[in-house]
Amino acid sequence: EYQDMSPKRMMEIRKLNCNPMTMKVTYYRSPVFIHQGHMQWLWDTEGRRYLDLFAGVATVSVGHCNPKVTAAAAAQMKKLWHTTNIYVFPALQEYCEKLASRLPDPLKVVYLTNSGSEANDLAMLMARLHTGNHDIITFRGSYHGGSPHTMALTSNSAYKYPIATGGCVNTMCPDVFRGPWGGSHCRDSPIQTTRTCDCLQGQCMANDQYISQLKETFATSLPSQIAGFFAEPIQGMGGAVQYPKDYLKQAYKMVRERGGVCVSDEVQTGFGRTGSHFWGFQGHEVMPDIVTMAKGIATGFPMGALVTTAEIAASFARGAHFNTFGGNPLACTIGSSVLDVIQEDSLQQNSHDVGTYLLTGLAKLRDKHEIVGDVRGKGLQIGVEMVEDKVSRTPLSPAAMSDIFEDTKDMGVLIGKGGVYGQNFRVQPPLCITKDDADYFLAVFDRAIQNYVDRR
Ligand code: PMP
Repeated sequence: EYQDMSPKRMMEIRKLNCNPMTMKVTYYRSPVFIHQGHMQWLWDTEGRRYLDLFAGVATVSVGHCNPKVTAAAAAQMKKLWHTTNIYVFPALQEYCEKLASRLPDPLKVVYLTNSGSEANDLAMLMARLHTGNHDIITFRGSYHGGSPHTMALTSNSAYKYPIATGGCVNTMCPDVFRGPWGGSHCRDSPIQTTRTCDCLQGQCMANDQYISQLKETFATSLPSQIAGFFAEPIQGMGGAVQYPKDYLKQAYKMVRERGGVCVSDEVQTGFGRTGSHFWGFQGHEVMPDIVTMAKGIATGFPMGALVTTAEIAASFARGAHFNTFGGNPLACTIGSSVLDVIQEDSLQQNSHDVGTYLLTGLAKLRDKHEIVGDVRGKGLQIGVEMVEDKVSRTPLSPAAMSDIFEDTKDMGVLIGKGGVYGQNFRVQPPLCITKDDADYFLAVFDRAIQNYVDRR
């Protein structure tokens, strides 16, 4: 009965028995009723096929129901589903060793959780215990979690609740398109901004300005010592926001001088998504003290992780940390299989190749349409910043965003939305998409933008 439930019945139950938020976030004017998925494709209850370029919010990394991962999971399900890590079973050790081998030294100690919020919660606690300090800095516009603690890291009013959340300060995001400084060549992307750049030969003026903002945050909003600095290598929810190339390097140094540790939130950028590197932080040539991850880690199965140094793990070992489901045999098996598939199917390379192809195609649409302000990102972590016009850079209105979004969906492509004002279209598909898929999307997206422009 439930397998073949009608859309009408699903909405009735959703209204009565589900978290009321689920009524708000059906995403489209008329909801998409998903029935089945395979790799980069989704089918609705009527059998209509969609190219899924949002992958359950950048999560389904190696494709929906990837046959290799599904087979590994099914085999494990027949053997052992659950016992916590108070007993020893092979899947956990195999996974921790494999994951640690994907990270540079000295990041070698793995903690397994069930979500990104849990991983960041743990990182906050660890940073505070290790340093003996309390205060944490994150960027405005960031998303690091929805639990009461991580909500303080998150800097987007839509996800905040009015509860006491002390000890976190949000500093200016060094956004080279929408921020006050920056332009061409400030960031690491095959696509440059349309803003002209004030940078002198060999010196990024925008970087200096944003770093001076961070200095001011230290001087005005924090005690002299801090616990940590959390940053995504490319901001996901913010709409693939990129920073000047040297920013993180200098910020890490300043944080460490003040006694803090540096946390790279790789929930969206990890596992090859940025194409050039397996982890986003490697693109900034920095070495974090703690790395947090989730989403793509298990292509949609609930799982998260934190990896840190032996030294920080030793400080944390003062207390007893326990997590019933973290590191369960099924999650470890799926996580392990995802790592294998990324390697066997060269998905990081594919992310780089198809991502660069998509970015190049999108840049042509930016040059063609006045309302496409910026195209940015790396690999398959892509944002398209929509504006009223290229001179004012005023965020495109929610109604216009919605028109283009709906039209794109009606032509068979699902994308995401982001940015503090909802002004950004996000393209973060499964890493297995092809250039043909990219061409299909580019044609559909061009048409949807043109349809809106013709109507307005
Ligand atoms: N960090 C980042 C960068 C995220 O995008 C998210 C989720 N959108 C989280 C942390 C929180 O992850 P979860 O929803 O699994 O708790």
